[in-house]
This record gives sequence, C-alpha cells and structure tokens, in this order.
Amino acid sequence: MAPHKRDYYEVLSVPRTVSADEIKKAYRKLALKYHPDRNPGNKEAEEKFKEISEAYEVLSDTQKKQAYDQFGHAGAQQAGFGGGFGRTAQGGAGFEDLFGDIFEDFFGGGRRRTRTRQGAARGARGEDLRYTLHISFEEAAFGKKVTLDIPKDVLCETCHGSGAKPGTKSTACPQCEGTGEVRFQQGFFSIARTCNRCRGEGAVIASPCSTCRGEGKVRTHKKIEVDIPGGVDTGQSLRLSGEGNAGAHGGGAGDLYVVLQVGEHAIFSRENNDVICEVPISFAQASLGAEIEVPTLYGKVQMKIPAGTQWGKVFRLKDKGFPDVHGYGKGDQLVKIVVETPTKLSSQQKELLKKFAEISGDEVEPLRKGFLNKMKDFLGCLFFVF
Ligand SMILES: [Zn+2]
Ligand SMILES: [Zn+2]
Repeated sequence: MAPHKRDYYEVLSVPRTVSADEIKKAYRKLALKYHPDRNPGNKEAEEKFKEISEAYEVLSDTQKKQAYDQFGHAGAQQAGFGGGFGRTAQGGAGFEDLFGDIFEDFFGGGRRRTRTRQGAARGARGEDLRYTLHISFEEAAFGKKVTLDIPKDVLCETCHGSGAKPGTKSTACPQCEGTGEVRFQQGFFSIARTCNRCRGEGAVIASPCSTCRGEGKVRTHKKIEVDIPGGVDTGQSLRLSGEGNAGAHGGGAGDLYVVLQVGEHAIFSRENNDVICEVPISFAQASLGAEIEVPTLYGKVQMKIPAGTQWGKVFRLKDKGFPDVHGYGKGDQLVKIVVETPTKLSSQQKELLKKFAEISGDEVEPLRKGFLNKMKDFLGCLFFVF
C-alpha cells in the first residue's frame, strides 16, 4: 500500500452525502486556491492541487465514485484510478488492467462502456462472464490472493482475431455493402434489419482462419490472478475489465465478474463490520464474575465478566471486527453472554442449591420483582373483566 492517502471527501471538505453540484463547487474553490499558477514554486500547494484533482477525478465520475464509496483506496489503487482505464489493444487484458473499474455490485452496476466502432463495422463484443467465488469467513476478513481457472473464449493467435487466414483479409459484405444493415420499405416505413449474410458485421471472410474456423476466437482456459481485499462481504463482486469472453472478429472482450460468497463460521457471525460471538458462561460465573477466554478473528483474548452479569448482556471488544474495506479502521467484536442453566446436578450440588434458595428466601432480583408486580396487575385485571 502506498503512503497514507486521505479520504477523497475529506480532501474536498465535503460530506459523503454531497451532491454532484457541490462536489464541483468545492473542487473549483480549492483548485483555484492551490493552482500552481497562483502558487509558483510552492511544493505544498502543488501536492495539494494534485490531491484535489485526483479526488475530483474519482468523485465526479458516477461509476468511479460508486466504486470508491464501496471499496475506497484499496480498490482505487488496483484500479489505477490515476492512470486511467486503458485496455490493452488486443482484447487480452494485462494485469494492470485487472480491476479496471473494480468493484461494484453485480446487479447494481449496469453497463457503462459502449463499444466504439472504429471505421468499418466489427464483430460483436464478447460476453461478460460471472464466476462465483466461495471464500471463508476469515478470508473475507483478511483478504486472499486466488488464481482462478476460467474457461473462456480468447482471441485467436493465428489470425489475431480477424477470422481471416493469415495473409488474407475480410472483405466488405456484398449484401449490405459493409454497413451491416439491410433497409427495406414496408408501407410508409423504412425498416432496417441486421444483415443475415454477415450477421451485422459488415464484412465477410473469403478464406477463414483454420485455427478458429473464421470465428476469430478460440475456447481455452485462462489462469487469472485475483487479489481480494480484506473486509469484503457476500454479494459484492470484483469486475475484471476485459477478462470476459473475446468477441467475434476482434469485437473486444467482455468483462469478468467475480461474485463473492462468504461462508458461515462455526462461532462467529457478522453484522456490517462487527463480528458477533455468543459466549456461554455458567450460572456461577455470571453471579460471581469471572475471567474468560474469548476467541476473536485475531486470536484469543482474556475478558473480565463482572459479577451479576445477565443473560444477553453484550460486551464490546474494540477493533476486533472486520477491517473496513475502504481501509478506514475496523469493526468491533460483540460478545453476547449466554448464561447456561446447569442440567446435570449431582446430589451434593442439588443440596447446595436448595440451601442457596433457602438462604435467599423472599429476596428477589429487580427483573423478577418487576415481572411479579406486572403479573399481579394483569391477573387483577382479568378478575375485573370476568
Ligand atoms: Zn483464427
Ligand atoms: Zn452484410
């Protein structure tokens, strides 16, 4: 991780609930103040200006902002936010391109990139792929590097995706004259339909490449390294730009979505970034107080239970929860006390408990006292009704 990076919202001095307009306003104000032209030779102002610009670049872009809101700098760094979102030319995305626009909710994200048609009509963009990755509770907490083996279509190396035999070229489709569409008149209307000869690609291949039979892509398995940051949760997904199926005839690759599924834990559960753990203690421990050992994601800790602890009491262990996926601190562990009533008593234990009850006599604890009073009122009420 790079040196500490300030929160983009903090950089622009705006709240997280800020509107797009306010972001622009805040940016303008700060950019004017710290602009290098106004502060010649001032290194500090220059750094500030860079920081402001970077924050604005991300927060002014709906998609980048969404990704940042969800995963913060941890994701932003891998996304190369500063360096833009370049895709490598031949569809096969390089590692720097992984996490192109990173994390977003799979269903919430929607498509953002429309294929640019350069010159003649080209093949269709490849399909997006979805891969469900199961990780354990601990892996979700601490992150994990995994290598996925993804069956997918990649660009044919023989013809470099063109589908034409090396040395030959595709030619403009004679039926649609390279437009990919055929127009015809129906009543008053002129209707355009995708050309069936070239399937809308505008080009036909006279001598197809023998490796891919003219498809421009071949089926294979590709190993892809994925770096899952700590703090992720079920349902979140990583988007690996350009790692989906290759398109036909150089149409560009789709994206790969790695959807995370976090397994359950035997003793922990999760609520946002807090870890919840139910810890059973004995009736005697609850009454007299005790020092108990409690498991956390980070190892065992000693915890003091005060005398008179009730069932359901929750103690908070600071910073023992999930790390925030944005990199801002950690959640806590909530230790929920469960007081267990003894079920297998020896005769000596029974004697002692009877004695205990005898000594306690009519003494009642506040909870029971309250209940008894309410019950009396309730029963009195019933008596009144009937
Ligand atoms: Zn080929
Ligand atoms: Zn055609």
